[in-house]
Amino acid sequence: MTHPTLKDAKAHLGRLIAFDTTSALSNRAIVDHMADYFAELGADITILPDDTGEKANLIARFGPAGTPGVVLSGHTDVVPARAVNWATPPFQMDERDGRLYGRGSCDMKGFAACVMAAAPEMARADLKRPLYLCFSHDEEVGCLGAPAIAQHLAALDVPPMLAIIGEPSEMKLVTGQKGKIAMRAHVRGTAGHSSFAPQHVNALEYAARIIGMIQDRGRAYAENGPFDHDFTVPHATMLATMIDGGVATNVTPDRCTFTFELRSIDETRARVDMDALLSEVENRMLPEMHAISPDTGIEWEEIFAYPAMGDATGTPGFEALRDILPEWGGKVSYGSEGGVFEVIGGIPSIIAGPGSIQQAHKADEFVEISQMDDCLHFLDKVVSSSATG
Ligand SMILES: [Zn+2]
Repeated sequence: MTHPTLKDAKAHLGRLIAFDTTSALSNRAIVDHMADYFAELGADITILPDDTGEKANLIARFGPAGTPGVVLSGHTDVVPARAVNWATPPFQMDERDGRLYGRGSCDMKGFAACVMAAAPEMARADLKRPLYLCFSHDEEVGCLGAPAIAQHLAALDVPPMLAIIGEPSEMKLVTGQKGKIAMRAHVRGTAGHSSFAPQHVNALEYAARIIGMIQDRGRAYAENGPFDHDFTVPHATMLATMIDGGVATNVTPDRCTFTFELRSIDETRARVDMDALLSEVENRMLPEMHAISPDTGIEWEEIFAYPAMGDATGTPGFEALRDILPEWGGKVSYGSEGGVFEVIGGIPSIIAGPGSIQQAHKADEFVEISQMDDCLHFLDKVVSSSATG
């Protein structure tokens, strides 16, 4: 049966998509739009601006603050869209073939639109447990907004007992998500005529050797684990992703910069492994480099990191909602704010949201209307279970 508020959810989605909230831009307009809407329905509103004031997180609470509640969480930002690659303008919703097209339709304004459509029911219901509607900035560039939300919730007299992250999971229950550390390495060598190669420190060659070590680590994870077969790729992965260096075919490159990442299934181990790699590289390469020129070296820069989300099964919040949670769909390797809620806020988290991650971050992104419908039915259950306490 089609959910009665599906029409509202579509209308909300059309309005949300029309805000160009590419991560590089301000998200204040969409936050104000959503805050005004929830406030009008009687929600308690908290806006958490970032240091620049250009970005903000939104928390809207329905129901009493004094009991452990449930978080419904999404991000307001979207990845960039190049209109030339799209069949229809990316920031204008288009409905065709049972789908709603537009940047962010599935990742993850579709979920936000469903939450907005469900909000009048949250306002009407006599909630015994609060619902915290949390919408962050800058998820797509490394979960930069969510930590402030997690800290705010953790500091409440009675923090929430479970966070439901509405990232696209085809409305299946996801109970784990890999963490990620994204790094940049700057290798500093010495420049000179390439015919005098032995007298110089070739930054590109050192970078290549480090990348080889990164590849070895990646292979070791694949061979030796640790394994968690609930993930499609059942182990950590490590790889180099971008490289830049050298100025001419006959010049020894004095600079090489490359990026690499570690996606982990175990948060504590990720840090230990990364630190071990950096020390091993330095121990192996620096003496060699310094023997030729002391003014050489390697600098490491952490671009961003977000924690892995562990399995919430068995926690009080999960058990309280167990009967209404969707069918289990495994664990995922993409990033979400679930790990942030869990590690920074101490709030066990799960993922369940409309749409497929296959459609995210692509031209002609869409969400199936049937997925929005399923999400609305799920949110109904969340509201009624919060009303019965
Ligand atoms: Zn997302």
